[in-house]
Order: sequence, then structure tokens, then C-alpha cells
Amino acid sequence: MKRSKQREAILRVLANTSSHPTAEWIHEQVKQEIPNVGLATVYRNLRLLKETGEVSEMLVSNGTAHFDGNTHNHYHFRCNQCGLILDIDEPVDETIEEKIASRTGLKVTNHYLEFTGLCLDCQRLGDATG
Ligand code: ZN
Ligand code: MN
Repeated sequence: MKRSKQREAILRVLANTSSHPTAEWIHEQVKQEIPNVGLATVYRNLRLLKETGEVSEMLVSNGTAHFDGNTHNHYHFRCNQCGLILDIDEPVDETIEEKIASRTGLKVTNHYLEFTGLCLDCQRLGDATG
């Protein structure tokens, strides 16, 4: 499929950030390149890119969708205080899927793991304010 100018711009935005942004944030960035692009267009293109497997959508526990240009399975950490989402450099445990499959008979094809807690900045702020 031929990619549109908008889709190229979205992929560039995602490739240049590690912040796992929302569609609204991506829209703000794409607008700097294509000023007349609408939020609905960004949503539609994100959906298409998700279908072709070029971006992955993460539904964070609070219900907000965030997008990730890294489509390989990897784990995340989310700060409960500021909402920061970080990649965790920890090998993905493939055996957990086999274990669950053999115990339950389910066909397990993927798993997601999100750690939560306080990021480094929020821990420092907590220390500073007592
Ligand atoms: Zn934080
Ligand atoms: Mn990620």
C-alpha cells in the first residue's frame, strides 16, 4: 500500500520520540509539517498504521490510548504520578506464553506487561517535598 504524506509524517514523529504519545500530541507535531491536517485524519491514519502493523497502540490502564513506533514486543513502565511511559530493557519472557498455553489449552500469541510505580523525577520531587 502506498503511504500518504500524513502517514509518513506520523511515522516520522513516532520514530523520533520515545514518549509513547497520544493521538493529540502526534497531531500537534504533524501540524508543524502539514499545517492543515485535522485530528480526525491523524486518528484515521493511526488506525491504518495499526492495521498494517507499523505502529502499536497501547491502552494504558487509565483508558488513554498511546502509540508506539516500536512494534516488537517489549515491556513498559508507567509512572502513577506524571503518566510517563518508558520502555523497559528486559528480555521478553516467551516461556510464559507456552506455560499458560499448556496449562489452559488456550492458543497464546502475545502478552503485554506494564510495570507501574514512580519515575526517577517523581521520586526526587517526593524526597524534596518531604
Ligand atoms: Zn513520574
Ligand atoms: Mn514502547
